[in-house]
Order: sequence, then structure tokens, then C-alpha cells
Amino acid sequence: MRFNPSLTARLRIGFLVLFALLLVVSLLGVGRLFQIRVDYENDITRNFQLELESERLRSAFILEQAAARPATPHQKPSQVELNQATASFQAAAKRASDLTDDDAALKTKLAKVVASEAAWRKHVAEPLVGGTVPPNGIEQRLTSAVTNSGESLAIETRNARDASRDHARSETRNTTILVAAGLAGALLAALILFSGLINSMRAPLGRLVAGARRLAGGDLQTRVEVGGPVEIATLGRAFNEMANSLERDARERDRVEQMKDDFVLTVSHELRTPVTVVKGFAEMLTAQRKSLNSRQFEAAEVISESAGQLQKMINDLLDLARSDAGKLRIEPEPTAVRPLAQRIGRQMRPHFDEKSQRFTVAVEKDLPDVEADAVRIGQVLANLLTNANKYSPEGAEVKLSASRVGDEVEFAVSDTGPGLDEEQLEHVFDRFWRAESGETQSGGTGLGLAIAKSLVELHGGAISATATPGEGATFRFVLPIAKDGRPTTQQTPAGRAKAGAAG
Ligand code: ADP
Repeated sequence: MRFNPSLTARLRIGFLVLFALLLVVSLLGVGRLFQIRVDYENDITRNFQLELESERLRSAFILEQAAARPATPHQKPSQVELNQATASFQAAAKRASDLTDDDAALKTKLAKVVASEAAWRKHVAEPLVGGTVPPNGIEQRLTSAVTNSGESLAIETRNARDASRDHARSETRNTTILVAAGLAGALLAALILFSGLINSMRAPLGRLVAGARRLAGGDLQTRVEVGGPVEIATLGRAFNEMANSLERDARERDRVEQMKDDFVLTVSHELRTPVTVVKGFAEMLTAQRKSLNSRQFEAAEVISESAGQLQKMINDLLDLARSDAGKLRIEPEPTAVRPLAQRIGRQMRPHFDEKSQRFTVAVEKDLPDVEADAVRIGQVLANLLTNANKYSPEGAEVKLSASRVGDEVEFAVSDTGPGLDEEQLEHVFDRFWRAESGETQSGGTGLGLAIAKSLVELHGGAISATATPGEGATFRFVLPIAKDGRPTTQQTPAGRAKAGAAG
């Protein structure tokens, strides 16, 4: 099994290693500095004692000299005093020798002092005490040998003290540098450790963030590669499980949607034939008015009207269901705008006249053909005009216009009716949406604009609405110009098609 500790374990290990490293470096450093200090103090004490002993050697030698050669002529050299001074010289030499145990240079210097004193005693002091005056040259040489060697011992002692101080200084400096380097090394190790830890999390976290973005963007097949510390690996697995379940849900939803679309499609289709039959018979009955009494005639009319509404609703539902199932087919071809607008205008005119509304059609001159299914775009225009007629009061103005906007042709149906507020505009193309109150509350199905939107979009166009409450509404949609769309040169006698020309 691969060793993959959790985040907390990694952090713990990291801190533990760092703590141990810092502790070891600090302990070693402090211990070493303490040892240097102790050694230095020992050296200072020893050198101080050595200096003391070399002073004692010097004074003992002076006493020896005084015993061998008294200061005043009437005093005699004293063997006893010489012995005492010699004893104190030797005692000092012994103590000094103990202090120079591990210092060869000092030991040699001390040995020289002891040897020169012994030589002086043998050749100068002993003869003087015995009453024999040694030759002047010998006494002088031996005496200065003792003095000089004592002097050089004192110098050596001072040198040893200086050397020990320098040694302590350089040791302290070296140790401080070493401890600082150790601490820096430990911190560097910690840095490497933590950046390794962060790096081990960065890649899997990055994958998770990218995966979440793709998922949010709708790519339900997104899965992430599971990796990194245990916690992040668990997060990765949870993410993949969530994506699995989302994909499952989406598939299920699609299946249910598909079933619903199929159902609506089938039912609408099955309903169409009987409703057409009912409508046909009702119309046949109303056509034979003479053979019906007035109540029968009214009933036949109501049946015909209701069957007509039902037929329209079924057709709308069929269109929407087909559009959802991707089965709504259009047959676009280069279509001249002016004849299309005029044809729909002609069909709608009686409705406007009925409500005394002023209806105009304005098509820009030299408009190119649009790539459109004339029947379906006719349906869209009729729907927009029916709404303008239905929701605008008597005497209102309604205008159907077409003009070129860039590479497209824009159709607009505007009216001076009740308009729509901002919130209503947001929903106006929603299925089954109808204004809840006021003049625009209709007996309609709320499907007309939804179908218009589907049809325009199927053509690669776009539809929109603008309105001011109380002042009117304008519905616009654009269609692409046909590839070989040439400007229509054919003109109506009135030039620009107006209501009069269209009718
Ligand atoms: P229907 O007309 O069958 O209700 P539509 O989808 O054609 O369905 O219209 C949806 C709703 O939008 C209508 O019920 C009406 O409230 C509002 N509406 C549509 N056209 C206009 C218009 N020209 N002026 C004001 N309101 C409108």
C-alpha cells in the first residue's frame, strides 16, 4: 500500500521534524558555548595561578640569593635560610609543574628555570655558604640564567593567557556561525517540507476547481482524477460521486421530458382529427341556418367557435411539442419581404377594421430577400398582429414594418395599446404566461409568443419586446438575409407599401 498520510498527519510530522531539528541545533549550540566559556575560565584561572607561582619562584630565588650573599658585610651566609628559600622555590616549582601539565612550551620553560636554579645553587650558593667565593663570571652567568629563564616563563604564561582568550573568541564565533547555519538549515528544511506539502495539495485542488467550473458550465461528464492527501482525495471522490448522481438525475429528467413531449405530441395529434370533424360539422350546421331554429343555430355557432379555439390550441401545443422534440421542421428559402407582409396585412385587416383601429404596413424600399419559411414567418407575423389587435382598444394604431439592420431584416409590430411593465416583459415569451389583470388579460392560451420565439430561433433569428405601460408595445424579430438575397426591385404602385397598398 502507498504511504499517503492525511493532511493533519503531514502537518504533525512536519512540525515534529522541524521542532526536533531546532531543538538539536539549539542544544548543541548552547552546550558548545557553555563548554567554551568553562574552558576559558579554567584557562584564565590556571594562567593566573601560574603567574602567581612564577612570581613566587622569583621571590624564592631572591631569598636564596639573600641567604647566600647577605646584603651587609657583617652578616654571614646562612645554610638554614638557603634551605628554607630553596624549599619554598621547589614547592612553587612543583605547583607550577602541576599547572603546566598539558602545555609543552610552559613545561620546557619551567624545567629551564628549575635547572638553572639548581645549577646556580650548586655552583654559586653552596660554595658561598661553604665560604668559597665562586669566580665572578660564573656567578653572574648562572644568576642571570635563572633570572632570564624566570622572565621567559612569565612571558610564556602571559602568551598562554592571550592565546587562550583568542582561542575562546574564535571558538565562540565559529560556534555562533555554526548554530546560525544550523537554524537557517532547519528553517530551510521546514520551508521545503511545507512547500512540498502545499504542492501536494495544489494540483488536486486545481483539478477540483477546474472540474467544478466545468460541471457548473453544464458538462455533466466531468470527473476529476483522485489524488493528493487523504482529505483532498476524499473530496475528489465525493466530487465524482456528486457528478455521477447529477448525470443520473439529468438522464432521468431527459427521459421524463422526452416521455412528456411524446405524450403531448401523441395526444395533440390524436385530438386534432376529432376536433376538425366537430368543427366541420358545426360549420356545416351553421351554413344551413334556414333549417335550424334560433336556439339550434346559436348552439351550432358556439360549437363551431369553441371547436375553432380548441383546434388553435391543439395546433399550438403540437408546434411546441414538436419544437421540444426537435421535430419542428421549417423549410427556409429566399423569400421576398414585401409580398409576405402584404399578404398577412390583407388577412388581418378585417380584424382591425372591426375595432376601428388604424393599421399600416411599411416595408423599406429595396429590401433583400430573407432566408425564411414563408408559412411559418407568416404565422409569427399573424400572431403578433392578432395580439396587437386583441389587446389594443378601439381606435388604437397598429403598424407592421420591415427594414434592413446590418446583415439582417428586422420586422416590427407596434401598437398604441396598454403596453407591458418591466416585470411582464421578462415573462412575455414564457409558455402559458398571460398578464394576470387589466386590459391584456385574455382568453388566450399564453402559447402564441412562445411558439413565435421557437420559430424565429429555428430560422437563426432573435425576437424581443419593448413596451411602456399605457403607451403601447413593440415586438421585433430579425431574420438573416438570404445568401443570394437581392434587393426586391418589384414595387407597388404606391412605392412604399402602406396599409392602403397592402389591402
Ligand atoms: P395569448 O395571446 O394566447 O394569451 P401570447 O403568448 O400571444 O398568448 O401572449 C402572452 C401574453 O402577453 C398575453 O396574454 C398578453 O397578456 C401579453 N401580450 C401579448 N401581446 C401584447 C401586446 N401587444 N400588448 C400587450 N400585452 C400583450
